[in-house]
Parts: sequence; C-alpha cells; structure tokens
Amino acid sequence: MRMRRRRYKGDIRRIRQRNARIFLVVCLVVFGAATVWISIDEKKAEKKAEQAYKEQIEQEEQAKKEENTKPQVNIEPTGPVLADETEKQQWYLRLVNSDYPMTEADVPEVATETVDTNGYQVDARIMEDLEAMFEDARVAGRTPMICSAFRAWDLQVSLYENKIERVMQEEGLSYEDAAVKAATVVAKPGTSEHQVGLALDIVSSEYQELDEAQMETEDQKWLMENSWKYGFILRYPMDKSEITGVIFEPWHYRYVGKKAAKEITEQNITLEEYVGAGAVETPVF
Ligand SMILES: [Zn+2]
Repeated sequence: MRMRRRRYKGDIRRIRQRNARIFLVVCLVVFGAATVWISIDEKKAEKKAEQAYKEQIEQEEQAKKEENTKPQVNIEPTGPVLADETEKQQWYLRLVNSDYPMTEADVPEVATETVDTNGYQVDARIMEDLEAMFEDARVAGRTPMICSAFRAWDLQVSLYENKIERVMQEEGLSYEDAAVKAATVVAKPGTSEHQVGLALDIVSSEYQELDEAQMETEDQKWLMENSWKYGFILRYPMDKSEITGVIFEPWHYRYVGKKAAKEITEQNITLEEYVGAGAVETPVF
C-alpha cells in the first residue's frame, strides 16, 4: 500500500511538473509573439512617420520652387480695354449723343472735304482711311455708296423741322409730340454725329433703303466685317440700343481711328462704353 501511494504521489508530481513546463512554454510563446507583434507594429508606425516626414519635405521644396518661379511683379487681372484720358480728348473719339448734345457754338469748325460725285463731305482728316475702305470694297467686288455724311447745323435743323412738320400733318400730333417722334428718325440738332463730319450713312447700291434688311446685303456684310480695319465702327449695332440710345442702324458708320475701332470691335462694345460714358439716359426711340 505504501509503495503504491508513493508511486501515486510521484505520478502527481510528474504531472504537475509537466503542466508547469507546458504553462511556462505557453507563457514564453505568448510573450514572444506579443513582443514580435509590438515590434512589427512599431516598425510600421516608424515607417509611416518617416514617409509622412519625407512627403512634407518634398511639399515644402515644391512650394519653394513654385515661389521662385512666380513672377515677382504683381500682374493685375486684365479688364476691358478702354480709351485712356488722353485718348478721350482726341477729336476722333468725341462723343455726341442725346446725353452729350452740342449747341451750335459747340460744334467744332472742321475742314471738310468732298468724298464723291454726289458732293457728300466729311472731316478732311478721315478722307485717307475712308478712301482706302471704298477702294478695298471695290477690289472685293462690292459697291457700297454714301447716302449721308457731314451735315452743317442749318441742314440738321431743317431736316429735323421738316420731319416734325410731316409727322404733325400725317398723324395729327402737337408740335411737342411730333418732335419726340421725329427725333427717333432724325436726330435733334446738336445730337447727331453727322454734325461733326465723322459719321456716314452707307448703303448698298443694290438696296438703298434705310431699314434692317440693309444688313443682309453683300455690301453691308463686307462693311460690317471690314470697316474697323480703316478706323470705322458700325455705331448703332443690334442689341445695343439700351446703351447707344439709338435704334439698330446697319448703315451708320462712325470714324473713331484704327486703334479704337479694333478694340471696340474685338470687345463688341459701343463708343459710349469705350470712352466710359455709360448707357444713354435719354434714348431717342
Ligand atoms: Zn447716320
């Protein structure tokens, strides 16, 4: 019995010792795995931090590079190209409309020159460009013709008064009402560009009516496309009546000089806008 008990006790001890060894091994394995895991994690974090730092340095270097290649002068955003103060004072940019009327005394005395066999006259200073335009139109096979040009003060007055009289007779209006109506067709004296010798009404020799169909003629199409090259603009374009105060007139050309004509045409603006005058407040339509 004693022997058996001793053996039994010995077995238990061995089992306990084995269990303890297993426990120790498990502990070591777990500890080892945890250590490896933590170190892998730490390495990953280290790598990440290193990468982030590298990227930051790269970004800073790139920003520095860009800073160095930037122009040192501050460039203002380009706005519309308009006449400067000196240009606005030039005779060829003089604004004449119902907001900027002239009295008889204001009308500049200009030397005029006869343009064609019909005796139409313009400011002598625009003759060269005008003749070049008509010559090039002719070469292109076009035959535009002038139907109105410079108007002396008295001529504008008689045109206007005659129109008023006709409206009074035809429509039975008072002088005042007829005058308002007449002004939509014939400019009130002092408000017409024809009075300074810089405007011409040009029509197609194939269609001489002063109406919107004029724009459909080949002669008018040529003028609309090319007049700016010679310093002329179509002064009262379609959809600009709110600014010019005058109805669409696909026949009325105004000399403004080559630079202004190019800039006005390129920007699709009016003379009012070009000289900074704003929209006409007293339109005549
Ligand atoms: Zn005209």
